[in-house]
Amino acid sequence: MKLAQCWDDGNVDDIRLIEILRKYQAKASFNLNFDLHAEERRCGWKYRGTKEVFKLAKGELKSVYEGFLVANHTLTHPHLTQIPIEQAAREIREGREKIEQHFGYAVKGFAYPFGEYNPAVQEAVRASGHVYARTVVSVPEIFPSLDPTAFHANCHFLAPDFWEKFEHVKSGNGTFYFWGHSYEIITEDDWKNYEDKIARLSREGEWVNLPDLFV
Ligand SMILES: [Zn+2]
Repeated sequence: MKLAQCWDDGNVDDIRLIEILRKYQAKASFNLNFDLHAEERRCGWKYRGTKEVFKLAKGELKSVYEGFLVANHTLTHPHLTQIPIEQAAREIREGREKIEQHFGYAVKGFAYPFGEYNPAVQEAVRASGHVYARTVVSVPEIFPSLDPTAFHANCHFLAPDFWEKFEHVKSGNGTFYFWGHSYEIITEDDWKNYEDKIARLSREGEWVNLPDLFV
C-alpha cells in the first residue's frame, strides 16, 4: 500500500519531525505561508495557551526541507472565504510563485488555511497551477477523489481511530494519507508516539510524494 503525509505552517518543530522521517526514509510534504517567514525565527502564538510556536526563519527553509517537497498554504494564512476573491486569488497565486522562486522547482500542492474553501477559491487554486488542494475533511478512502481541489485526507495524525482508518485502507490496498502540525507534538511521549507511528507505517507500506498520486 501507499502512504502519504503532509504538515502545515512551517514551524520550527518540523526540524525534529524531519529527523524522524529521514531515519525511516519516509516522505512528506510541508505546506508553507511564504510571507510569514521572517529573517529570524518568530514566535507567532501559543498552542493550547502554553507552547510557544515558532516559525522557521526564511533563510533556513531550503536546508530544513532539503529532500522533501514543499507546497503552498497561501502567502499569509488568511480566511480565504471571508476576504474578497481577488485578494484570495492573490494569496494563492503569489504564495505559489514565491515558494517556487525560493526553492527553484514547480509547486504542485496546496492546503487550505483553516480548511476553508468554496467554488471560487477552488477555481483560483486550479487557475494558479496547483494539481491538488487538501482540505481538513477526513474520508475513509481518498480515491477516487471527485475533485482534486477538494482533496480529503484519511485523518489527522492524532485521530483516535488512526490505526482503524489505516487498517481499512490497507484492506483495500489503497493509499493512506494523514496530515498535521508539528507543534501538536508536545511531550517526549508525543514524539515517541509519532516515531512509533512512522516506524510501523514504514514497515507496512511505501511512502509516496503527493503530486505523484495525480499523474
Ligand atoms: Zn495552516
